[in-house]
Amino acid sequence: MTNLRITFIIGMLMASLTMLTQSTHAQDQPGQTTIAHWQDNHTAAFMLLYDDSWPSHFQVAIPALIERNMIGTFYINPGKGEYKKHRAKWEEELWKTGMVYGNHTMTHRGVKDFEDAQHEIGDCNQRILDTIPGKKPRLISWAKPGVKKGKWNINREELEQILKENNLITRPPFKDHGAVYHLKKLEQYTRIVDQAIDQQDAGYVIIHGLERRAPMITKWQDFWPMNQDLYYQLLDYMASKRDANQLWITDHISIHQYETQRQTAKVQTVKQNDNSITLKLTCAADPQFYDLPMTLNTRVPSTWQNVKVTQGDTTSNVSVRDGIATYHARPDGSAIHIQPE
Ligand SMILES: [Zn+2]
Repeated sequence: MTNLRITFIIGMLMASLTMLTQSTHAQDQPGQTTIAHWQDNHTAAFMLLYDDSWPSHFQVAIPALIERNMIGTFYINPGKGEYKKHRAKWEEELWKTGMVYGNHTMTHRGVKDFEDAQHEIGDCNQRILDTIPGKKPRLISWAKPGVKKGKWNINREELEQILKENNLITRPPFKDHGAVYHLKKLEQYTRIVDQAIDQQDAGYVIIHGLERRAPMITKWQDFWPMNQDLYYQLLDYMASKRDANQLWITDHISIHQYETQRQTAKVQTVKQNDNSITLKLTCAADPQFYDLPMTLNTRVPSTWQNVKVTQGDTTSNVSVRDGIATYHARPDGSAIHIQPE
């Protein structure tokens, strides 16, 4: 055997020994906790975004989402004809199914000046806050409406100011993500889903109308109607990826909160003994708005099969898998207690 070869073998042995030591000391230690990249350890996140409060949203889009246990973000215009006609649907029914509303201005007609913009954007926001119970203020997703040239008469700084005053978070851009407009074939839609998974990123599709078929009113279609078969195929594809734990399908604000919180999230072991583990999760984002529970994975002693996780007045029973307990926790620095059941 040559010296070089012996050196190589010794090197390999040392490397494996180091790896072994690391795994026994770091990952296998009870209390060792990781913060999931996305909720429930999904590989990627995905959001379906629906614009302009078209009737085909509740006629076609939402029933298909409910059937698959999914949610979407609906960018509403409370001052637009289609919305006003079906106001009771939007305000008394749809959000109760778990759908989330975003701000797309009151009328979708553009803004004449700063004051008009404050009404177009502020009034839409107020309608969402008044309609859907929850924290006030809270973050709401914002999508600027596409309007004709000359119809948007405020500058970027003025818009930024209004968005900030209303706690609005701008959604990702329309470019390359518009159903019908950019995306036509199933492969184009599934490619967006696959890319999100490959890059462990947040993917999205922006939809306007959905195709209506008999026996529904079929005399006219909503704007840019997406073919129904294509829509169901996309949803089924997403569901298959979700069921393989690859896709967290949720609304824009949840994705924004998780991503923002994750950037500065830290988990610390406060106390640990044979009977319990106490941790705390913190992050630097403003706790008034960034309070979404995050997924933690904690290694527990090998004898613990089921655990009880308590944080404040929230308690959940979790079954341990491969020595790891996976659960949700708020990033507010309050104590998280894990105990065997
Ligand atoms: Zn629009």
